[in-house]
Amino acid sequence: MSPIGGVGVNLAIQDAVATANILGRPLREGRLSDEDLAAVEKRRLFPTKATQKLQLMMRSSRRTDQADAAKRKGPPAFIRGIARWPVLAHLAGRLMGLGFRMEHVRIDRKS
Ligand SMILES: Cc1cc2nc3c(=O)[nH]c(=O)nc-3n(C[C@H](O)[C@H](O)[C@H](O)COP(=O)(O)OP(=O)(O)OC[C@H]3O[C@@H](n4cnc5c(N)ncnc54)[C@H](O)[C@@H]3O)c2cc1C
Repeated sequence: MSPIGGVGVNLAIQDAVATANILGRPLREGRLSDEDLAAVEKRRLFPTKATQKLQLMMRSSRRTDQADAAKRKGPPAFIRGIARWPVLAHLAGRLMGLGFRMEHVRIDRKS
């Protein structure tokens, strides 16, 4: 996990867990349908869009920072702003590490 917000792999693993949870049983029973695939998309759409939005916000803040990079020392303004507030820093770290929607492997004992 990158400390500057590279979270693509986190999303990929959560996508994989959600997909396994939703498609596992229909696949095993040989009755996979378009509705099952749509259910995966529906579950993962919000965290994907929210993460993209957050990364775009960080990128535009970085662009402003680059403009006065010569004057600046230390981390970008966006990060300095968050670090000033311990609760915000904790929330940002948690969001970065765990994402907008956590996924847990579901053990399906019926099949
Ligand atoms: C340069 C770069 C740096 C990155 N750095 C980071 C980082 O520091 N931290 C981080 O968390 N993330 C990072 N990422 C993002 C991360 O790599 C991706 O978000 C993540 O790999 C996406 O995983 P995925 O399984 O969803 O898709 P992918 O890893 O893209 O896997 C999809 C797979 O499906 C295959 N495929 C596509 N179409 C078909 C088909 N029709 N039939 C069969 N197979 C198919 C592809 O060949 C590929 O192997 C980086 C990405 C890039 C490009």
